Amino acid sequence: MTIAPATPTRTALRARLVSVVMPMHNERDGLDRLFARLVPVLREVGVPFEIVCVDDGSRDDTWERLKEARAHVPNLKIVTFSRNFGKEIAVTAGLAHTSGDVVVVMDSDLQHPPEAIPELLAHWNDGDYDAVYARRVDLDRGSFLRNAFSKAFYKAFDYMSEIRVDRETGDFGAFDRKVIDAFLAMPERNRFNRGLFAWAGFRTTTIPVTMEERQTGASSWGFVKLLRLAVAAITSFGTLPLKVWAVIGSIVSLTALIYGLYVVVKTIIVGADVPGFPSLMVAILFFSGVQLIGLGIIGEYLGHVFSEVKRRPLYFVSEAIGFDAADAAADAEETSRAG
Ligand code: UDP
Ligand code: MG
Repeated sequence: MTIAPATPTRTALRARLVSVVMPMHNERDGLDRLFARLVPVLREVGVPFEIVCVDDGSRDDTWERLKEARAHVPNLKIVTFSRNFGKEIAVTAGLAHTSGDVVVVMDSDLQHPPEAIPELLAHWNDGDYDAVYARRVDLDRGSFLRNAFSKAFYKAFDYMSEIRVDRETGDFGAFDRKVIDAFLAMPERNRFNRGLFAWAGFRTTTIPVTMEERQTGASSWGFVKLLRLAVAAITSFGTLPLKVWAVIGSIVSLTALIYGLYVVVKTIIVGADVPGFPSLMVAILFFSGVQLIGLGIIGEYLGHVFSEVKRRPLYFVSEAIGFDAADAAADAEETSRAG
């Protein structure tokens, strides 16, 4: 593991409280290892901290383990959902439960090394940046197919949306309170967090971090889930896919017109020959396909509109522990003693 070589300005942090947010879905086996690495790092930072873990409807006993962990992990605050709502929403819920001046968001499977946190915080602390992302230095380590898919997605996203997200930066970063407030002010149901952060703006920088392999359990992102996130991301951040049909339609009509003229002229000059059945079928099938794709894309947007106008809550919390005043006071004392 390497951490950014640049500017380790280890002056005292100007934060009164540092929050760490982690979404968790079936992460029972990794918890001990996670806290064993995370807590010493946070202690070293030397400012009171809180760790907010959101159990996103795990089917294993992640929640029970989190409750047990509260006995030895200082200022651990835990939230569990009524069901699985997905990572983007779990992170959103976690952020809504923080009160730090600066918030670190990271995965809970140790792919995001906790040892990079002081560096992220140091860059925030300098005051020049409101959002500091960890930039992966080992980009193409997954399977060939996954990398190809991810490259294609970022190209498409870049081209079709009104904002920019980098392929090298992920969900690991430190964010100023005002960025978190901006993020939480965006109430949409179809959430692509990195897009929302990018849309919010603010002064952003990145530091290089070597991400690690998942320590235990398995990634919850199958191909279909990734594809759905990709489509939701693109259609949430731009309307180009909707507009492109006007262009395609115009090109097709123009071609048809020219071809029609050609057929008329040819018929007048050399007379009608036997109509070409295969070419007719190909044309009909091709353009029905084109129309269905167009309809499907409109449907995708309509689906977004549908889920937005229902205005359902983003998630339901089934239990939250560590957030009441008594807990918080005891925990704050413990972390400041430790720090
Ligand atoms: N996660 C979650 N809800 C889900 C799927 C994943 O909260 O429905 C969490 C998971 O526990 C982990 C993070 O999101 O902390 C990243 O998930 P994962 O490691 O499965 O994804 P990958 O690293 O393969 O992209
Ligand atoms: Mg992972």
